[in-house]
Amino acid sequence: ELRESELLASVPTGLLIGGEWRQAASGATFDVEDPATGKVLVSIADAAAEDSLAALDAAAAAQETWGAVAPRERGEILRRAFELVTERADDFALLMTLEMGKPLAEAKGEVAYGAEFLRWFSEEAVRTWGRYSVSPDGKSRLLVQKKPVGPCLLITPWNFPLAMATRKIAPAVAAGCTMVLKPARLTPLTSQLFAQVLQEAGLPAGVLNVVPSTRAGATTGPLIKDSRLRKLSFTGSTEVGRRLLSDASETVLRTSMELGGNAPFVVFGDADIDAAVDGAMLAKLRNMGEACTAANRFIVQDSIADEFTEKFAARMASLNTARGTEPDSQIGPMIDAKSRDKIHSLVTDAVTAGATVITGGTPVDGPGYFYPPTILTGVTEGSPILSEEIFGPIAPIVIFSTEEEAVRLANNTEYGLAAYVFTRDLNRGLRVSEKLDTGMLGLNAGIISNAAAPFGGVKQSGLGREGGLEGIEEYLSTQYVGIAVP
Ligand code: ADP
Repeated sequence: ELRESELLASVPTGLLIGGEWRQAASGATFDVEDPATGKVLVSIADAAAEDSLAALDAAAAAQETWGAVAPRERGEILRRAFELVTERADDFALLMTLEMGKPLAEAKGEVAYGAEFLRWFSEEAVRTWGRYSVSPDGKSRLLVQKKPVGPCLLITPWNFPLAMATRKIAPAVAAGCTMVLKPARLTPLTSQLFAQVLQEAGLPAGVLNVVPSTRAGATTGPLIKDSRLRKLSFTGSTEVGRRLLSDASETVLRTSMELGGNAPFVVFGDADIDAAVDGAMLAKLRNMGEACTAANRFIVQDSIADEFTEKFAARMASLNTARGTEPDSQIGPMIDAKSRDKIHSLVTDAVTAGATVITGGTPVDGPGYFYPPTILTGVTEGSPILSEEIFGPIAPIVIFSTEEEAVRLANNTEYGLAAYVFTRDLNRGLRVSEKLDTGMLGLNAGIISNAAAPFGGVKQSGLGREGGLEGIEEYLSTQYVGIAVP
């Protein structure tokens, strides 16, 4: 308790604009709650349009100087930030558990994962290659160079408060872009602490500006219309992403969109069932299922469906649901009441349509927004639980008999972010991987996120990639110079 209050008291409560922490111009503040108790943790400044415009002023003013800073120097700021976040891993983990609810052990995992983007892009900062070539007719030379795209607006969701911020900020820093970050209303504290760490790491004033806000549209809308803004990177729901894409069309703004998912988890009869169950636990329950890569539909071959379901259910039923700060917590609360109610209505609708609850299925009584790990079988095709992103610890199981049917079921969604395939047959694994319309695929793996890999989707799961060699490209523009041969 003492440690919690000390940590909370150390988090900056202002807006970060031009290197200064300051109150919102209106003086407005808002409360950040603990989803395990519903209690207020701390109150912070609530930005409005005038504040976010001041933040864009600062970002635009810093762009030219920042873009000219040596790549090595930008990389070294990221490397120091990696060291500082790693040193303060316990603080970041506890803060995320407090504001987001995930168990401490998982929060620590996110600190390691989130920090990895800082290390990766500290290395990538010095590797933004262009090229020089002879034109096909031999009469000129073609110089292709990369430049920072310019001031960026970064909008992040609440589910991975640190990693979603580092995944955008680190490549922007590496590329030489300045930024305005609008963190999620429900989990702004981690971004606040991280911004402070970046200041300590030597990030110059105005390069990163942070504007938490309760009115996301009103606060970010004017920036999207402003011709000084050159890039929007958004992670969140497909619904909001669509709206932002339409707003961005006005200034033909460059966008990166990491949107919703509806990942199929396909288990073939020839799979190692125990490995598939391990994978299922990770793919379903990492972050309590509140991940866009979470397995949303389990598509299991008839020959092994009973064995898989029985083993999976035993593991799901054995988990301890408790506030994330409890040492034995394995499943924390859902982010809020609305989210829990939506999950429960998906379950009850599926049951009304004929599905059977194997384990779970009833919200947990008491304070906080807890929902138990749940397995449903006999889910009918067309059930909303199969087409909507669940964002909770619910596993609907659907049975198939042929490979063709599995592929058809897996692709039967407007989303295309992640998929998981379990089989011992490598040829089948590769064949099915090629047929699945997703940006990412775990082959006998229940967890695929990696700073060194390109994260992103196809179809309505988004545009662009974060991480990997691709991640920095999102923050660079290409300029070609045609040179006449003297
Ligand atoms: P989720 O909350 O499920 O992660 P959202 O798409 O609602 O997904 O939110 C993701 C981020 O987008 C949050 O930071 C949220 O405040 C922000 N956001 C929501 N609506 C808008 C909007 N109209 N314009 C800009 N940002 C928005």
